[in-house]
Amino acid sequence: MEVSERVEYLRGEMGEAGLSAFLVTSGDNRRYLSGFTGSSGAVVITRERAWLLTDFRYLEQARDQAPGFEIVRYERGLLEAVGDLLAREGCQTLGFEKEHVSFLFYQQMETKLKVSLVGTEGWVEKIRRSKNAREIDLIERAVEIADRVFLEVRDLIHEGVAESELALEIDYRLRKMGAEGSSFETIVASGPRSSRPHATRSARRLRKGDLVVIDFGAVYQGYCSDITRTVCIGPASSRQREVYGLVLAAQEKALETARPGMSAHDLDRVSREVIKEAGYGKAFGHGLGHGVGLAVHEAPRVAPSSDTVLEPGMVFSVEPGIYLPSWGGVRIEDLVVMEEDGVRVLTRSTKELLEF
Ligand code: ZN
Ligand code: ZN
Repeated sequence: MEVSERVEYLRGEMGEAGLSAFLVTSGDNRRYLSGFTGSSGAVVITRERAWLLTDFRYLEQARDQAPGFEIVRYERGLLEAVGDLLAREGCQTLGFEKEHVSFLFYQQMETKLKVSLVGTEGWVEKIRRSKNAREIDLIERAVEIADRVFLEVRDLIHEGVAESELALEIDYRLRKMGAEGSSFETIVASGPRSSRPHATRSARRLRKGDLVVIDFGAVYQGYCSDITRTVCIGPASSRQREVYGLVLAAQEKALETARPGMSAHDLDRVSREVIKEAGYGKAFGHGLGHGVGLAVHEAPRVAPSSDTVLEPGMVFSVEPGIYLPSWGGVRIEDLVVMEEDGVRVLTRSTKELLEF
């Protein structure tokens, strides 16, 4: 959805829910709606008007980045300013993002706002799921940076190097190649640690015979990428080859099967079947993928319990894995964008089993 259509869409939701105003407190949602990248503030939308509230530190930036919004500077506090706005506009009912407020914030809204409060769920997240051409372009740039970094760090992968050193090199190179930062804490998990899907990094040094799961991403103009490759230190054993081949087959199965109109749980199942049939079903304990955009984990979830129907414009990861405690793990992750006739794979790094 184009930036100019987003607030109008939300007014439609507000109308259906009988709300006269909607308060957006999630940072990513605030950015998605207004373009404002600062770390503090909120958006308030009524049937006719739209405000971005922020404090003194961000005033100039807000005026530059959010031309479609009236900018309000708050001095006493955010909720006092929201309260003033709502009273002035005669609003009686306010929707808020119930996933994005703390219990304390809710209590403060109850005390400070003289309106009835209605919790909403996933309104902005739902429109964020499908990306417009500009968003896809930014994600592709973030993917490209990560691909280039993987190509460079391949030269640094060898026996004796510590996971933390390798992770640091990845983070450094992401920035050097134009990323604003890493989209999450870079994972380098080697040997027995590779069976822990979210192991981050440690001081452990790579050894011959290790599988090494490397999972990282770049942020480019707010948009994230996410890639995983698994490599081997020294020649792979026959079992390492077998498990790697299975994960790759499961991933490719998903890539060739995915179509718009398919439910996310069906796509997950198609890929999971490949691993199940080979007897490793219990070793694939997470969902097949997740949406990626302003957040590295966002809608749609691609998992056994996800009812989301896959639509053109959705960008998500496809990342099956097999994790065998004390032996090691393999995960292969690409980012894809759903198009009219299937997915286009954005990630270009090789999926051959690399041996160092
Ligand atoms: Zn990842
Ligand atoms: Zn991922």
